[in-house]
Amino acid sequence: MGKLAINGGEAFRKEPLFTWPMHDQAEEQAMMDVLKSGKWWYGAKVKEFECLYADFQGAKHGISCVNGTAALYIAMKALGIGPGDEVITTPWTFVATSAAIVQAGAIPVFVDIEPESLNLDIKQIEAAITPKTKAICPVHFFGRPLDMDRLMAIAKKHKLLVVEDAAHSWGGKYKDKGLGCIGDTGTFSFQFSKNMTAGEGGIILCNDDDIQTNVWSYMNCGRWPGKPWYHMENISGNYRMTEFQAALLIAQLARMKSQMAQRLITHDFLYDKLQSVPGIETLGPDPDYSTQRSHHGMCLRFISEVWGGVTREKFLEAMDAEGITLMSGYVFPMYRMPAFLKPENLPPGDYPDYSSMYQPVVEKAVEEVFLMPQHLLLAKPELAEDFLRVIEKLYDNRQELL
Ligand SMILES: *Cc1c(COP(=O)(O)O)cnc(C)c1O
Repeated sequence: MGKLAINGGEAFRKEPLFTWPMHDQAEEQAMMDVLKSGKWWYGAKVKEFECLYADFQGAKHGISCVNGTAALYIAMKALGIGPGDEVITTPWTFVATSAAIVQAGAIPVFVDIEPESLNLDIKQIEAAITPKTKAICPVHFFGRPLDMDRLMAIAKKHKLLVVEDAAHSWGGKYKDKGLGCIGDTGTFSFQFSKNMTAGEGGIILCNDDDIQTNVWSYMNCGRWPGKPWYHMENISGNYRMTEFQAALLIAQLARMKSQMAQRLITHDFLYDKLQSVPGIETLGPDPDYSTQRSHHGMCLRFISEVWGGVTREKFLEAMDAEGITLMSGYVFPMYRMPAFLKPENLPPGDYPDYSSMYQPVVEKAVEEVFLMPQHLLLAKPELAEDFLRVIEKLYDNRQELL
C-alpha cells in the first residue's frame, strides 16, 4: 500500500471542493410556477430570458435555442454560410464549432493556436484566407478573449463574416464590449457543465435586425415573422427552448455577477500560487483588453518530464482518487478527429488534407493541457488551497505514479 489514495492510501479529501449544478429556492419556485401555469411552451419566460441575456451581454437581440451546438449551426445558416465556403477556425475546441461549419455545408480551415492563450493565432489567419473564405469562427477559449480589434480589422479588410463561438464567455468583456456581441453573431451554451445552466440551452446574440429575423427563422422551423404559421421561408428544424429552461436560466443569470466575482478571486489566488508549483504551468497572464474577466475554469499544463515521466493521465487519476476531479484537455486537434477524416461525413468540396496536417502548438496542447472545471473556482480560496496541497502530496510521492 502506498501513501497515495490511488495506491490504497488515505484520500486527501472525502468530499468534493464544490458540487455542480447549484440551485436554491429561486429555481424551485421558477420550476413550480411554470409547471402550474400550464404554459410550458415557447412563451413569456423565453422572451424574458432572451431580453435579460442580451442586456447582460450588451447585444441588441437575443434568440434562444436548445443548445450551443444548434446555436452555432443556426448562426452559420442565418449568415448564409454554406456549400463552397471556407470558414477559418481553431483546431482546439469542442467538436461543435467545426461540426456546425460542416453541417451548414461549408469547409472548416484550421489555423494553429497561440501557446499563451490556446486561442486561434490571429497572426496566422491572413495566410489561410483564399477567395473562398467566407467567415472566421473564433472561440474565446475558457472565457479568455481574442484580440477582437485585430481580428475584426482582418475580417473587414477581406470582407469576411465573424461568428464568435462564445460558449465559454458568459459575462466576459473585451475593451468593455460583451464577448459574442462584437462579430456578426455570438453563440452561447447553457449545457450542464457551463457557468450557467438549464441542463441544456443556447442563445444567439446579434446587433443587426435582418440577421435577427433570419436567426429566428432558422431557430423556428424556417417560419417568418408576420407570415402564416405554416408558411416556411427556410429549410430548418425546431430548435425552440422551453419555458422550463428559460425560467431556470433567469434564476441562474441573477447569480452570475456574484459567481463571476468569486471565480475571479479563486482563479487569481490559484494562478499566483501555481507559479511556484513544479511541473504545473499556467497560461500567460490575462491581457489588459480583457476588461471583465469571466473564467470557465483554468487551463493548465502538466509537464511530464518535471514529474520524472509521470503521465498526465496518471496524474489526473491520482488527483481524482484524492478527491479532486479534473479533466483532460481535448484528445485530438480537430483536424485529426475521426469524424472529419471520413469523406462520407463531409459535404462535397475541396477539403484541406486534414490527415497530413500538423500544427505544433495545438499538438503540444493536446499532450500537456488539463482543465479545472469552472465550479471548482466557486470554492473559496481557503478550500481551493486543498487543490495545491493535493498536487504537493502527489509530487512528493511521484515515484508511486510511475
Ligand atoms: C459547450 C460548447 C459548445 C456547444 O454547446 P452545447 O450546448 O453543449 O451544444 C460549443 N462550443 C464550445 C467551445 C463549447 O465548449
